[in-house]
Amino acid sequence: MVTGPRVVLLAGGVGGSTFAVGLRDEVAARGGTLTVICNTGDDLWLTGIRLQPDVDSMLYALAGVKDSVKGWGRAGESLRVAGELRAWGAGWDWFELGDLDLGAHVARTGWLRDGLSPTDVLARLQQRWDLGATLLPMTNTEVDTQVVLADGHMHFQEWWTRHRAAIEPLGFENPGIDAAVPAPGVVEAIAEADVVILAPSNPIVSLAPILAVPGVRAALAETAARVVGVSPIIGGAAVRGMAEVCLRVVGVPCSAAGVAAFYGARHRSGVLDAWLLAEEDAGEVESIDREGVQPIMRPLWMRTPDLTRTLARDALDAAL
Ligand code: GDP
Ligand code: CA
Repeated sequence: MVTGPRVVLLAGGVGGSTFAVGLRDEVAARGGTLTVICNTGDDLWLTGIRLQPDVDSMLYALAGVKDSVKGWGRAGESLRVAGELRAWGAGWDWFELGDLDLGAHVARTGWLRDGLSPTDVLARLQQRWDLGATLLPMTNTEVDTQVVLADGHMHFQEWWTRHRAAIEPLGFENPGIDAAVPAPGVVEAIAEADVVILAPSNPIVSLAPILAVPGVRAALAETAARVVGVSPIIGGAAVRGMAEVCLRVVGVPCSAAGVAAFYGARHRSGVLDAWLLAEEDAGEVESIDREGVQPIMRPLWMRTPDLTRTLARDALDAAL
């Protein structure tokens, strides 16, 4: 019997899944349930195989099989198949595709070709481990993230991984998102939640695609749960990686307050009730408050499992 809070997390890959592990443990300690709505905007077809980078980061992290040094992919990975693909001239030779990881991709692709929906496929994949959470794709409609460049479009993965976000983009698009439908369970989970948390994920390419799925914003507007976000920006910088570029391109200041304003206050047709910001960003409390979002200052570094768990506890306490 569930006695604790029903918690829903909206998340991308590395940042989102790191947070999800702490949240899973904290929710379990309170006798609650966790549903994770995963970004599928990073998904792609490569040599006929379906890849879901953010979904897999979440799966591996919660299963405890993630490569904790790299922060993504499987621990103990090898690259034999990737070497063969390179020799065949197939796929992307700059894209690291591990053998264990490929196992998941091949299984997924097979089930998709058998006619299963992405939701059903993810349900099967997560049966292998006791994740302590239910993972849902944001949508079963194929919508990827395209980077708009001066001379055309590029899949987000290519821009991010191959070019290290070094080609100046004009914007980001999710072609077809307006016709996308939330995956089964997504709207229901938000409606029935006691708490909804926006993970410290990339606002532009991890969480914005989820929020752009028609019906998700309305569900967030209507839920009786409080919606709490965790800032991915600490001390005016994206912790690691290249998220700054994404923010700059869409005109969002790279600051805790900038991202809070990007999400907006729920009572002003945004999505947030409260926003966890780092102590380093104390100067932005007032501006977040003016935005209509409750600012809550907490340590936001997820440097150790203990710190991550404490952050998850703070986020839950902010919501309950
Ligand atoms: P991706 O899909 O693999 O890019 O991962 P996400 O979108 O889920 O998360 C990436 C973001 O996580 C980065 O842009 C960082 O801002 C954020 N992040 C990474 N580590 C930390 C941390 O320790 N604390 C906080 N607050 N944010 C972090
Ligand atoms: Ca991602």
